[in-house]
Amino acid sequence: MFSNKKEPFKYSQDYPKKWLHIAKFWFNLKALWRWVRVQRPISKLMGYQYRVANDLIEIDITYQCNLKCNNCNRSSAQAPDNRHLKLSDISQFVEDSLNQKRYWRKIRILGGEPTLHPQLHEILDELYKLKQVHSDISIQLVTNGYGRRVNKVIGELPDWLYVENSSKIDSVQPEFGPFNLAPVDSWYHKFSDFSNGCDIAKTCGIGLTPQGYFPCAVAGGIDRVLNKNSGRQSLPDSDDEMRDLMKIACGLCGRFRDGHYVPPKLRAKILEQRTSDSWIKIYQEWDSNKDRNGH
Ligand code: SF4
Ligand code: SF4
Repeated sequence: MFSNKKEPFKYSQDYPKKWLHIAKFWFNLKALWRWVRVQRPISKLMGYQYRVANDLIEIDITYQCNLKCNNCNRSSAQAPDNRHLKLSDISQFVEDSLNQKRYWRKIRILGGEPTLHPQLHEILDELYKLKQVHSDISIQLVTNGYGRRVNKVIGELPDWLYVENSSKIDSVQPEFGPFNLAPVDSWYHKFSDFSNGCDIAKTCGIGLTPQGYFPCAVAGGIDRVLNKNSGRQSLPDSDDEMRDLMKIACGLCGRFRDGHYVPPKLRAKILEQRTSDSWIKIYQEWDSNKDRNGH
C-alpha cells in the first residue's frame, strides 16, 4: 500500500551557520549570473535558461482560501475569489494523459486551499485512475493545515495520498518571496527576456488551473487576475514550452528576480505585503471588474 505521510513542511536545503558566508557569496554569484543570463542578447545566444518539466504537474483546484497571507503567489489574499477547477477538467486531464501515454512523476494538488474544493474526493478518485496505471506516480496534496474545517478534511484523506502540510498559523509568512514586486517595474530588468522563466517551471512543472494549462501554476494565477483566460485549453504536447505565456506572466512575477531557489536563511524576511505599481493597477482593475465577472 502507498504511504500517507502527514508531516509538517520543512525546507530541506539549508545551511549550517559556519557555512553562511560561503553560501552568501555563492548565491550572490548565482544572482549576478542570473541577471546576465536573462539579458536579451545572452538569451538569444545561449537559448532560454529554464524549460518546463513535462513530467511534473501542479493542479490549482481552487483559489478559495481560509487564510489571507501576505504576498500569496496565487493572489488568493490580494484578489479573493471562490473560483474552482471543474471536476470535468480533471476527468479530461486524466483521459488526455492516458490517451497521450503521458507519464507523470509527480502530481501536486494545490490552491488556494485545496481541501475547500466541494468535490475534492471526486477529484482524488479521478486522479487515482492514473495511479492505478503507474503505481509509482507520487500524488500529493499541499494544504495550509489551518482551521477546524481544513483539518477535518485532512483527517478523511485516503492513505495513498501524500499530504504536505505547511501548518500555517497566521497570514504573516516571513519566508515568502515578494511575489507582487513585478520585474517589469524595475530598471534592473529593463532589458531582460521574461520568456526565460525560472526554476519553478523546471522543478514544479506545468500548471493546470481553471484558466487552462500554463508553464507553471503561478502563471495561471496571474492570468486569473488579468482576466485573460489565455491558458492552453487542452493538455499541451510535451514539446510546447509555452514561452508566449511566460513572456507575460514572468514579467509580473517576483519569483523571476532570483530565478532559482534561495534558502530562507539567505533572504530578508518579509513581514508585510509588498506591491509594485503594475500590481497595484492590476488589483484595482480586478476589483472594479469583479462584480461584472461574477467573482
Ligand atoms: S494559505 Fe496559501 S493559498 Fe492561502 S493565502 Fe496563504 S499562501 Fe495563499
Ligand atoms: S517567474 Fe513566476 S510565472 Fe515565471 S516560471 Fe517562474 S514562477 Fe512561473
